[in-house]
Order: sequence, then structure tokens, then C-alpha cells
Amino acid sequence: MAAKFDHLTEVDSCSENKKKSTAEKVKKCAKPTPGATMGGCAFDGSQIVLLPVGDAAHLIHGPATCVSQNWNNRGSRNLHGQYYKMGFSTDVTEMDVVFGGEKKITDKCVEIAARYPVKAIFVYTTCVTAMIGDDVPTACKKAAELTGISVIPVESPGFIGNKNFGNKIAGDALLEYVIGTQEPEKTTEYDINIIGDYNIAGELWQMMPIFRELGINVLSSLTGGTSFDEIAYAHRAKCTLVICSKALLTLAEGLKRKYGIPFAEGSFYGLGEIEKTLLSVADMLDSEELRGRIHTYVERKNAETLADIAPYTALLKGKKVFVYTGGVKSWSTIYQLEELGMDVIGTSTRKSTEQDIEKIREHFEGTQKMLLEKGDGRILLGVLEKEKADLLLAGGRNMYTSIKGRYPFVDVNQERIHGYAGYTGMVELAKQLAYTLTSPVWEVARRKAPWE
Ligand code: SF4
Repeated sequence: MAAKFDHLTEVDSCSENKKKSTAEKVKKCAKPTPGATMGGCAFDGSQIVLLPVGDAAHLIHGPATCVSQNWNNRGSRNLHGQYYKMGFSTDVTEMDVVFGGEKKITDKCVEIAARYPVKAIFVYTTCVTAMIGDDVPTACKKAAELTGISVIPVESPGFIGNKNFGNKIAGDALLEYVIGTQEPEKTTEYDINIIGDYNIAGELWQMMPIFRELGINVLSSLTGGTSFDEIAYAHRAKCTLVICSKALLTLAEGLKRKYGIPFAEGSFYGLGEIEKTLLSVADMLDSEELRGRIHTYVERKNAETLADIAPYTALLKGKKVFVYTGGVKSWSTIYQLEELGMDVIGTSTRKSTEQDIEKIREHFEGTQKMLLEKGDGRILLGVLEKEKADLLLAGGRNMYTSIKGRYPFVDVNQERIHGYAGYTGMVELAKQLAYTLTSPVWEVARRKAPWE
């Protein structure tokens, strides 16, 4: 199985690989060592990518305990179906370990297809079922014949790699079994794919009006807010926009290799980044007319957004914020906060790519701003205290650290309930930051107890 996924460790467009000479590129990306899967296994990673497909069932071929790894803990939203909120499992037991569990796959698929009007079923291999050697692709093929719907094997046992590697495996499964299997009803000259947005807190829905107003048609979104059919005709798009995802560059590269679809990376956090990203789409579509439309549109939207955020920026101006997103493209969050008038005193680079870190370094050049490589709660609190931070912008797991230190906190992780992309997202972020900073709770929390 490891050999099957060998190509996923050779990503030409990956920031690390770009810098390498041809000879160095022969060396593959580092594979995780035992224990390195802590914090999200490959199975978890593949579900992150595929669970947002709302009209498909997600059947986990393994012990029922694997279901809890990712079930319902992300803020993806979808209007095509809510099946990702159901936990389907083959629930393998000791008997299956001895006699094999493939029959359970076909049985469960038949049961799911009979009970729910799902468009497809994704079947995930987990550690136990990979180790006992269940032939999941063959069982899926049989299940597809019995049910009449697509049944897609996702060979992602946790031990094979970390979360990022699981993202790649999911992208590979889409490329191998789904993309190219259907044709769209109509196509336009402005059809694009979006890769890497999972519609967390409805962020895709904040971007869609921008594309619509500009006459750009999002043919397929992989995989936020998407339907199974949409993914199946992604091969008809004219270009691909990869949003905030390093891992799924493998999928963008696959689309380019297999169907000749060009791709570019972009971000919808902050006014400057939105403009740059839209212009890169116009470049890929090679449309001067679209370029012109974008310039006019962006000018109008920037003016409107600045007017909308004005009441909040008055409260945010000069406030010190530390960014601990841990994800890719933390630089785009930094730009967004600076556009709101805040003073970004530093950022973590925990999961940032070399390219991202370089960008942040350049941006911070000549200042004392901090790049925090690794930090536990204690280190983080020390930094906030030393730098006299007013606010921490971070993932949900740092919420309690900030509460312990009595620092206002805004959640930017996958469980968040507010979207911060596009123009409306910019206003929402300004609002949430201002509300958090001015909440009366901080004054009470920082007050000494009566007995102190
Ligand atoms: S796939 Fe393996 S590592 Fe991942 S949750 Fe299941 S048993 Fe744990």
C-alpha cells in the first residue's frame, strides 16, 4: 500500500520541492516516523477532505472507535446533504480479524443505500482492516454493483502517515475514482475549480457572491459545500484555484497532469489577497476583459468594505494581537489583521510551509516581531505577557490558555462558527474582534478576588 502512494511524496509545486535542484527532487518528502501520527492520523486527514461531501455516506471500515476520530468535529457546512453528521462503521470485531471483514463492507453498503438516498459511499480503510489485509477496493467494486451507486475506496489506515498525508490520499481517491466520471449539463469559458476550502463556517458561501458578480462559474468545489456530482465533473474546469492547502497541491497537480488544467494558489483573507487571487484567476483564464471587470469590482467592494468596518476599526486600531493559527498561509491572516489597523506582534509558524515562513519573515523584516516555532500553553502565555498583547487569535485548543491568562480570544480553527473569508468575512472578523476586545467580561475577569 505504501508503494501505491509513493507518488504523493513527490510534489513538484510544494514549496519545499520548488527550491530543490533536479537532483535533490529525487529525494522524496519525509515520511512520518512511528508515533508521528499523533494529532491526527492519515484516516483523520482523508476524512477532513471527504466528509464535506454532504450527499455521500462515509463508511469507516474498522473498529467503531475510529469513527470518533473526526466525526462531527469540524464546522463544514453543506446544503446538499448532512450525511457527514452520521457515523457509519462496519464495526469490525475479533471474529472479523480472524476471518476477514470484507463481507461487512458490501453488507453495510447495501444497508446504507437501502435506507438513505445517498449519491455515493466513501469506504475508509483503518489500521486494523489494513493490517488484516482486507481487499477494500474489490469489496467496493462489488458493493457498487449491488447498490447501483458509486462506492469509493479510500485506503487511509492511520499508521501510513499523518493528517496531511491523509489529505493527499483523499485527493488521490477523488482523482482515481470520481473526477471524470460525469459530465456537467453546461460549461462556460469561466469555469473554475476550488480546491482546499471545506466551507468551514460557510466561508465558501462568502466567496461565491464574488465569483458570481464577476461572472466566474465555480464548477466544482473540492470539497466544501459540494455535491458528489460536482466533483465528478471537475475535469471540465478551465483552471483550478488552490485555497490555503499545501497537501492538496497533489490533487491540483494531478488535474493538471491528467486533464491539462492549470492551477494557482490564493487566499480570500483580506482585501489585498482577494484582489491578487482574483487577478490570478483572470491570468489563468487569459482574459483581459475579466481583468478589467475585477479592477472595477474590487475598487467598489474595497470602498464598501472599508465603510462597513469603520466602526470596528476605530476600536481595533493599534491593538496588539498575537496570531497562533498553526495552519498554512498565516501570512494572509496577518495582512487581514493589519488591514483592520491592528498591530500583529508575532505569529506561530508551527505548521507553516517554508514558503509561508519566508513571506512572514520578509513582512516582519526590520521589526522585533516574533516567529514562534513551537509553543505550549506556558510559552504562549509568556509571550502574551511579555509583548503586552491585547488579544490572541488562535485555534480552539488555545482558548483555555487564553482564558487562564485572561486574554481576549478569537477562534480561527475549523470548529469556529464565524467565517472570515471574502468581503463579508472581513466585516465579520472586524466585528468579532471588536466584540471580544470590548466585552465587559475581561474587566470582571481581571479584577482581584475579594479575598486577594
Ligand atoms: S485509523 Fe488507526 S490511528 Fe487512526 S483512529 Fe483508527 S486506529 Fe487510530
